[in-house]
Amino acid sequence: EHMMDIRRQYCNPMTMKVTYYKKPVFLHQGYMQWLWDVDGKRYLDMFAGVATVSVGHCHPKVTAATEQQLKKLWHTTNIYVYPPLHEYCEKLASYLPDPLKVIYLTNSGSEANDLAMLMARLHTGNFDIITFRGSYHGGSPQALGLTSDGAYKYPIANGLGCTNTMCPDVFRGLWGGSHCRDSPVQTIRECSCAQGTQTHASIVICFLYIYTIQMAFLCLISIDHCMANEQYIKQLKETFATSVPTRIAAFFGEPIQGVGGAVQYPKNYLKEAYKLVRERGGICISDEVQTGFGRTGSHFWGFQGHDVIPDMVTMAKGIGNGFPMGAVVTTPEIAASFAKGIHFNTFGGNPMACAVASSVLDTIKEDGMQQNSLHVGTYLMTELAKLRDIYEIIGDVRGKGLQIGVEMVTDKVNRDPLPPEAMSAIFEDIKDMGVLIGKGGLFGQTFRIKPPMCITMEDADFFLAVFNKSIYNYMEKR
Ligand code: PMP
Repeated sequence: EHMMDIRRQYCNPMTMKVTYYKKPVFLHQGYMQWLWDVDGKRYLDMFAGVATVSVGHCHPKVTAATEQQLKKLWHTTNIYVYPPLHEYCEKLASYLPDPLKVIYLTNSGSEANDLAMLMARLHTGNFDIITFRGSYHGGSPQALGLTSDGAYKYPIANGLGCTNTMCPDVFRGLWGGSHCRDSPVQTIRECSCAQGTQTHASIVICFLYIYTIQMAFLCLISIDHCMANEQYIKQLKETFATSVPTRIAAFFGEPIQGVGGAVQYPKNYLKEAYKLVRERGGICISDEVQTGFGRTGSHFWGFQGHDVIPDMVTMAKGIGNGFPMGAVVTTPEIAASFAKGIHFNTFGGNPMACAVASSVLDTIKEDGMQQNSLHVGTYLMTELAKLRDIYEIIGDVRGKGLQIGVEMVTDKVNRDPLPPEAMSAIFEDIKDMGVLIGKGGLFGQTFRIKPPMCITMEDADFFLAVFNKSIYNYMEKR
């Protein structure tokens, strides 16, 4: 209670929300895929601090590398030349295809996306930026403009200078209010009020959210097997033709939406979006904050699963296994346009962060974590799909590797989102049985499963048993 008092008093609980608010978890220690609370209760961590603890809590190899650097050098700023920065940049670049070789290190994903936005506008000379409905690209004032979910927005300007607090577009819940299913090609400008039209940051286009849209052809498990791609691509083209300006600066896309609820694109959809963006002079940015570093299993980067090469890649979360870090990687040509001024970031590429991130890359490789993601992730998806076939309220199971979403519905015919109270009841029950997972989706209707990539098949079985039991318990009481 004392800890909760402090939280209430000093950490505004209205904005800094506690998950499991009914009975909060007081976490105290972690090792690999496990967490312990202050009373010594153990939890299987199936959320990894929001897809961030990539190789495991306090992984011995990463801890050893961190300790070594801790005793050597903490900080200089990147105006000096020091080995960890240069060793890391060379190593990270080796994981990216040509011509993505110029690296800027930041401290978070939002910062990386802010920087990418600035570079894209400088390079193209254009202003408008396209993102998809359901996207999350950050909480800093600029990146917030790219994020589509109204729950993260505030009644001022989306951080962009529209001073009209009555502007209908900047209030919370704007996107939550209209269901994509009703209007699949709806286009929403960031701000459409008289004062704001000059200052909008991005145009959120409503991409087809497969499960809720697709009544006739349900794509189960893998979008790659969906036969109805042409229909979506046609609609994407129409959206661009009718609602997107002829000149744009950039398109930001997550290869699989994270906060949006593991939403995947139909086959070739992202490829077509890249083509349409480039036709309008824009550059294509892959936000790999959640999908990077092997999480999707089949590839090291999410974009590689879409047969595209972006002009810029932004990353964070898994890059440092929990150490604050992010990066933007781009081409020499785009970097050259950015050379008009100085860019400075005190902590970006800090020796500690670089040493941690370097050992994270080594650990992913040495411990075969990407392969493990694919192996355990595929098993989880197969088993979850079986539960979906049993329970009326499990609408969809989707994702790739260890980036999995389970969309909960009231019933499979109407596909209405399972209401928040029901989601919470299941969520808390899972926690009480010793497993932590996440929640997401525009209506908070999707459970998110993104464990550290070191989880085993036994862990997967334990999680599946708990998940099954929690749904069963809920159905019993309903
Ligand atoms: N992009 C994506 C895809 C994310 O999921 C997030 C964080 N949830 C961000 C950007 C922002 O990263 P950060 O919280 O490190 O600023």
